[in-house]
Parts: sequence; structure tokens; C-alpha cells
Amino acid sequence: MRKTLLLVALAVTSITSTQAQDNKVRLLSPDRLTYLEVSIDNGNATYTAGLRNVTGNDTIDVPMVLQSPLGLITNAADFSTGLTAETMTAYATPISVDYSLRQGKQSQIHTAYNRIDVTLKNADGKKFNVAFRLFNNNIAFRYEIPQQGETAAIVVESETTGFRLPTDATAFICPQSDPMIGWKRTKPSYEEEYIWDAPITTPSRYGHGWTFPCLFHEGDNGWVLISETGVSSDYCGNHLSELTDGNLFQIAFPMEGENNGFGSTGAQIGLPNSTPWRTITMGQTLKPIVETTIPWDVVEPLYEPTRDYKGSRNTWSWIIWQDASINYDDQVKFIDLASNLGWEGCLIDGGWLTNIGREGMERLFAYCAEKGVKPWVWYNSNGGWNDAPQCAKQCMHNPIVRKQEMRWLQQHGVAGIKVDFFAGDKQETMRLYEAILSDANDYGIQVIFHGCTLPRGWERMYPNYVGSEAVLASENLYFSQGFCDMEARHACLHPFVRNTVGAMEYGGTVLQKRLHREQGKGNTRRTSDVFELATAIAFQCCGQNFALTPRNLTEQPQFEIDFMKAVPTTWDETQLIDGYPGKYLVLARRHGEKWYVAVMNSETAAKKIQFTIPEFAGKTITMLNDGKDGQTPNKAELKVDKRGRITLTLQPQCAAVLY
Ligand code: CA
Repeated sequence: MRKTLLLVALAVTSITSTQAQDNKVRLLSPDRLTYLEVSIDNGNATYTAGLRNVTGNDTIDVPMVLQSPLGLITNAADFSTGLTAETMTAYATPISVDYSLRQGKQSQIHTAYNRIDVTLKNADGKKFNVAFRLFNNNIAFRYEIPQQGETAAIVVESETTGFRLPTDATAFICPQSDPMIGWKRTKPSYEEEYIWDAPITTPSRYGHGWTFPCLFHEGDNGWVLISETGVSSDYCGNHLSELTDGNLFQIAFPMEGENNGFGSTGAQIGLPNSTPWRTITMGQTLKPIVETTIPWDVVEPLYEPTRDYKGSRNTWSWIIWQDASINYDDQVKFIDLASNLGWEGCLIDGGWLTNIGREGMERLFAYCAEKGVKPWVWYNSNGGWNDAPQCAKQCMHNPIVRKQEMRWLQQHGVAGIKVDFFAGDKQETMRLYEAILSDANDYGIQVIFHGCTLPRGWERMYPNYVGSEAVLASENLYFSQGFCDMEARHACLHPFVRNTVGAMEYGGTVLQKRLHREQGKGNTRRTSDVFELATAIAFQCCGQNFALTPRNLTEQPQFEIDFMKAVPTTWDETQLIDGYPGKYLVLARRHGEKWYVAVMNSETAAKKIQFTIPEFAGKTITMLNDGKDGQTPNKAELKVDKRGRITLTLQPQCAAVLY
């Protein structure tokens, strides 16, 4: 942290280009291929952003986010209109950002940004700043609010912050749901159906706008991903409004009815302070979108880890064997399964307090220790914010019971908890997320959230954070045949949208053909076996609760099991090779020296895919695929040519895994 501050100080003394002509300032990214303009006109602050297209000696601006409003309204001052610029300064000396991340797309990150600082004054003479950081392909900005005279405590009630897009852009976005609907009134929980490549004028299903992250396609000009990061207990989680003014999405606040109507929809902050970062990632191709690290580049760890947290592959009985499996004997079977697979952990899901009891759990914890498997334990986040009945309840909602619970978990070697059924995006709920994470770290415990909001920079902010559901996840395969029919499409969508900004705890890799404990019952999986293996690479989360069951050990070809024994959950590097959201994906990830490539086709026709993996050039690698019939998984050696070119034909809802 000290290093960054020092660099900031140096940059201030070496301002190189402030083209601040009156009320407008323009800045280029360190590679000079992304631009940002900020202007103040008629009392309104706006920004415009885009890419620069270089052909020969000519460079033309390609606007991606059209002139869009800035500003916020607090109970102490209206910072949205009547604004004049006190100072507007562009700093074109790149400030480097270097850090390591225990989980994500990349383990060592080296990037840099230029910045714009604007100090604005409203009609009453009250001041605030807008801070922009311009990275290659990425922009982050936030409002910084100094103390206002004697007023040191404010509530941010709304923002005028917006993102104006070309009217012909299309969207891959997920609607915000009504509050207090769905299973036992547990929504919103980021579990709605996306619209796919649909016009931005499409109204959202519930009329409450769209949850982050939001991906937009602007034809040949490229792609834009909009999200936010750095949301801690100091703010609420925001989302995008319904489209207004023809082509403008604005920052929307939580809905009144969330958290059973309790708690403000605004953000209570002590001054000086700042809002979360809003982020824009732009690319002529999807590569900068899928590979972006902007959610972590602009945040800092909020505390030190109390131990060296490691990634984990867990067995998980509930996903196929459901509620009835949360009993002592069935959990022993899944602890044995984890041990057989050489996996790190076993997740004991909801219902354990009633069905197994604390004493039974302690015996299971001891059995885990004997088997070299770390236990993970499910909790209901409740509290009084929904009707979800699963136990253990009333253990995570206040610090007294929470710390008592965590002390018990720590005493018995529990590696992590999975806390489910949160109450939306209000600051009230953000405080609960942070309190759980912070207390858990004190007891050396990792945390997965389910039925929850999107993580916003949390991999870096909270070192014991593992992942969040915040997606229509694998449980829906069990619940609905329609979801099974769509599984391949979703699997080829999430790496381009939901998973680009945060760990996605999906709970996937189902190898049973039917989703039921008993043979011949349950929904039918449409994807091939290798497609399921490929999701273990495609979906990023350092703690994976995979959906394997004891039957898989004898029913699947041994090479499938061997792959699942070997697949890592943490990555040093990620590269998008090719793909289109919802259609197909070629994604390469490196763990240590080894590359793993997922090649997936979600469409209804066979697809010939050609691509180049330079790291495989001239090598003989292992390939798992589904055979010409799309049903017979096999393992083969593949000799890659000197240039690393690979051509594959994938059957519908089939995949190849290369490593
Ligand atoms: Ca869920």
C-alpha cells in the first residue's frame, strides 16, 4: 500500500498533460488505446469513454460509452446539478499496480493506470471529487466526499451516475427480481434468467432494472462490461436501472422491500469517504472482458489472513442426494468419496443440526480428520429476513452467536462455511456479509455465500472469501428439466459475464446422466461427460463443490475420475482464446507450469473450431473429448503442430478438454 501512495505522490509532481481547456479534460490509457473525457457544461458533469482504432498513421476515436451523467444526491448536499469545476486535472504518468491474488484469473497482477481528478462545487459551494482511473481497456471511477463543514455523517440517497450506450447495442444482462419473492421469500439473489443478445430497450422482467455485471455488444465496435467493485459495509450494492432517456442506464439503489422492508435503501457514510468504484471494461474483442482484473486492481485487502487459506475441492451430497442425505451415514459416504478422490474437503449441507446434531457433527469432524478431509458446514444466514427453514439458523446473524459458533467450528478443524439465503443488497445486508467474513477470519475459517449478492472485489478485500453463488446454479438441474435443457448455453455464457468479475460458486460437474440418488429417476442431463469436466476449468472459484457422487467412481471411465482428481481450483493465468457468449468457448487457464484448455460447444449443431495455443506448440498433449457420436467419452494423445494450431469438431452440447 505504501508503494502505491509513493507513486501517486510522484505523479502529482510530474503532471504531463492537462489539456484542461475550460471545462473539459481528456486522457489516454497507458497504451494510448483507451480514452476518457470528462466535461462540465451548464452545471452538469459528464464523461465519455471509448477505444482508439489505429490504422496506419490514423487514429480514430470509437466511442463505447456515450456522454453520460455523473453526480449523486445526499441528505447533506445535492451533488448532481449546478456544478462548476474547481479543478480538473489529467495525470498521464502511469501509476503501477502490482499485487498477488490468492484466487482469480491471474495470481500475479502487474498493471498501470493514468488518472483524472475533478473537484466540483455545487450551487451552495459544497465540494466533492470525482476520481477516475484509466487502465488499458478499463475505467474505474468513484466519488470522494470531504467533510462538509461540521457535517461528518451523510446518507447517499441516489446517484445520477449513468452509462449511455448506442441505441443499437444488444445486452446480455440479468434482471433484478422483486424483493421477498421466490423460495421462502429469499429473493433477490441474482438468480434470474438473462436476456441474450437482446436490444437494450428490452424491459426487465420485474421492472427493477438489471444486476451487475452487465455485458453489452456494440456490433463491430466491440464489447462493454459494466459493474462495480469495492463495496464493503460502507455502502449498499447497486445495480443498473431500467433504460431511461432512450439509451441511458443509471445507478439504481436497493429496493425498499428488500430485507423484509427493514433498513435504508441509501448508503450511510462517515466523512471523508468515497463511494464504491464503478467499472467499465471495453474491448474490440471479448478478450479484455473475460481477462479483466479491474474488480481487484482498485481495491485493497481490508485485513490480513490469519492463516494460509488454500483452494478446495469438496464433495457435496445435497446436490444430487438432496435433503434426505443430510444424515450421519450418508455424510460418511461423501467423506469417503472425498478421500478416494484425494480432494481437500466435504461440504455438509443444510439440515445437519436437526438430522445429525452437534454431537454427531463432532463425530463426523473426527472422521474427516481420520480421512484427511476438511469439513465445510452450511448455515442459514437468518435472522429475521426470510422464511427459509433449513438449519442451522440463528447462528450467523449477530456477533455473539456467530463468534460462539465459529469457535466451535475452529475447535473441530472446520475449513469453511457456506452461508445461504441473504436478504439482498441493502447496506444493512452488506454489513452482515462483511461481519461474517471478518469474524470467520478471526477463527481461520473460509466463507462461501449462497442465495446472495454478487461479490464486488471481495477476493482481494477479504482474504478468507471463497466464492458466491449469485447465478442460476447447479441446484436448478435437479429442480427443472428445462434448466437441464439450457445447461450448455448457460455454461457458455457465465465465463463472459457473471464469472468475469467474481468467483462463481456454481456447484457443477455432474457426471450422473440422471439427477437423482436412484437410478432411472430425476431430470436428464443434456450435456456430455466431457462438457461437465470442461466446466471445472471454465468456472472459476477457488472452492469448488463438485456434484460427483459415489456411483461415479465405478460408473464413469477411469480417465474422467483421474481428471477430476487432478483438476486445480486456483489459476495463475487465464486467456480467452475464442468464443461467443452462450454459444461456444475456448478458454485456457494455467496452474503452475500446466495449461488446461476448455473447448465447449453449447449449440444444437456440430461445430468446427480452429484455434492456436502457442504453449502447446510442438507438444504431445492429452485430449478428452466425446467422440464422433457425442456420447462416447475418450482420452487420446494429441500431437500439436509447431505453431500450436488445433482444429476440433465438437458435437452439440459437447466439449474437449486439453492439458
Ligand atoms: Ca441458490
